[in-house]
Amino acid sequence: MNKILSNYGEILKQIRFCERNLDRKYCETKLIAVSKQFPKETIQILINKGHKFFGENKVQEAQSKWIDLKSENPQKQIELHLIGPLQSNKANLALDIFDVIQTVDREKIALKLNKYLEEKTDIKKKKFFIQVNIGDEKQKSGIEENLAQQFFKWCSKDLKLNIIGLMCIPPFGEPPEPFFKKLRNLCDLLNLKHASMGMSNDFKSAIEHGATFIRVGTGIFGERN
Ligand SMILES: *Cc1c(COP(=O)(O)O)cnc(C)c1O
Repeated sequence: MNKILSNYGEILKQIRFCERNLDRKYCETKLIAVSKQFPKETIQILINKGHKFFGENKVQEAQSKWIDLKSENPQKQIELHLIGPLQSNKANLALDIFDVIQTVDREKIALKLNKYLEEKTDIKKKKFFIQVNIGDEKQKSGIEENLAQQFFKWCSKDLKLNIIGLMCIPPFGEPPEPFFKKLRNLCDLLNLKHASMGMSNDFKSAIEHGATFIRVGTGIFGERN
């Protein structure tokens, strides 16, 4: 069997296995297949298998692959997630390409997204996550944890952005569990169902700590260059 399909099957099995002891409300973890740096032909293998959730971290790369992939697969109900940092000059383009933007993390971006959504009333309902800088790292994107609640309220009440959850990337080289717990607690505090956390190396632990979306690249597609 194709290596990608066998990796994919294995990950789905592991997800179901991790969920077996969980509280029902966190069940049905969604797998985002992170296809950055992989070509259309490789991605098409998973689309053919019926997979719907995909992630890319760069707007321009996504544009070069997903406009075609979506128009070539109109019946597949693909949901494309932006999981990388968003510059405000690419916000409109991002809304044209992505269904879900997981990296809303500052006022300027939120305002830009809101403005375009108000102008383009034909755009179908988009979904957003707020990215939280959960390890309080200087170089990392994401809103500061202690500003997250206020920012969430402003985005959802004043701007009416459809915020469905929080997203984080824990610090590299540290056990991720305390950060997964913090993000899940913050989601619960804000009454948000969705936590996007966990990658190839730690998605099992993320699920056990209440992730509802995990983002797996290498574990499905193999090593990137
Ligand atoms: C690349 C990437 C992933 C996937 O990482 P893997 O280790 O390949 O599974 C997840 N989240 C973000 C934000 C990424 O940029």
